[in-house]
Amino acid sequence: MTIPLQSKLPAVGTTIFTVMSKLAADHDAINLSQGFPDFEPDEGLVQRVEYHLRTGKNQYPPMIGVPELRTGISRKLKRNSHIDVDSETEITITSGATEALFNAIQCLVRPGDEVVVFDPAYDSYEPAVSLAGGRTIHVPLILPHYQIDWDRLQESLSAKTRLVIINSPHNPSSSILKTDDLDQLAEAIRPLDCYVLSDEVYEHIIFDGETHASVLTHDELRRKAMAVFSFGKTYHVTGWKIGYCVAPPELTAEFRKIHQFNVFTTATFIQWAIADFLESNPQNYQQLGEFYQAKRDLFCSLVEPSGFRLLPSRGTYFQLADYREISARKDMDFAHWMTVEKGIAVIPLSPFYQTPPDSTIVRFCFAKQDDTLRQAAEIINAI
Ligand code: PMP
Ligand code: GLN
Repeated sequence: MTIPLQSKLPAVGTTIFTVMSKLAADHDAINLSQGFPDFEPDEGLVQRVEYHLRTGKNQYPPMIGVPELRTGISRKLKRNSHIDVDSETEITITSGATEALFNAIQCLVRPGDEVVVFDPAYDSYEPAVSLAGGRTIHVPLILPHYQIDWDRLQESLSAKTRLVIINSPHNPSSSILKTDDLDQLAEAIRPLDCYVLSDEVYEHIIFDGETHASVLTHDELRRKAMAVFSFGKTYHVTGWKIGYCVAPPELTAEFRKIHQFNVFTTATFIQWAIADFLESNPQNYQQLGEFYQAKRDLFCSLVEPSGFRLLPSRGTYFQLADYREISARKDMDFAHWMTVEKGIAVIPLSPFYQTPPDSTIVRFCFAKQDDTLRQAAEIINAI
């Protein structure tokens, strides 16, 4: 007898990142699809991991994260953004930003609630909303600069709106939100019992002299916001799965109820190593924008002769490109063709939409060694 399995996520398949990385591996393509660096983290950080691994930091750390790491994050927020955050009641260390996003959504969203996301939206948001019994309302960003359509947002808000999810710098579009965007958002949700979940994993990867507008710097939003960060992006260690959530004490208390029964905590020796490195090497993350801007500029100049038309990239380590002069294929087919036939894996944008626009845009990841970018550009320019 088979037990009928009723999926809780019937519309969900395997994430496009996993699909494209596997296709790249199967066809030996240069993988510019899933976002991860192809270079090693700082040796100083690796040494701290090794040190703590060998000196007894191998058993459960505190459920909310080791105090040294939480106080380090609090000092960093004070130093860089002049924000006061209490490390005991407002910061929780998580197993990557993915866990933090999931917990935040589970603790805020109740059955029947509506959650606004902006399309193209990072793919982990909607499944988490569905599992919480909520309904996701998709508000498309306006091309070519992927800005918020404030009228459309206004029309999408109602007494049912419980949460708005923002992401800046934005994956996959590489656009950024500015302080006046936060002001407009604050005004739009002022009459509602609505929270904000702010995905800020690329906070340090911002270009051309812009500064990151964190929700934590906005007095009004800060009181109703949960902000999520990832050390994976900041320290070139996406596989370590370590991040954190900053939220007011009453929201953090609820967040921790979910966190403790989701993963309970995250690897001890990694927390200690990052605590050391945050304190001893602040310049490391302060120079990250410059570091990736040089890669963006290199990649863009290398592929300039190609048939791809490049869109603005203001942050993250992604570059969007329009392939309409190369092919009339749909983006899923185009990404497949690029990977299998041309040997360069890219990410199509349609999986990030509820209703994909009729566009011909794919995402390249430029978090790669310069040699990898050069090799890729030779192929791209010959297409
Ligand atoms: N949000 C966005 C926008 C991302 O790009 C990522 C990275 N894949 C995450 C969240 C998840 O971060 P982490 O790997 O720390 O779980
Ligand atoms: N955030 C990464 C990207 O955008 C992928 C993360 C994942 O594979 N889950 O490519």
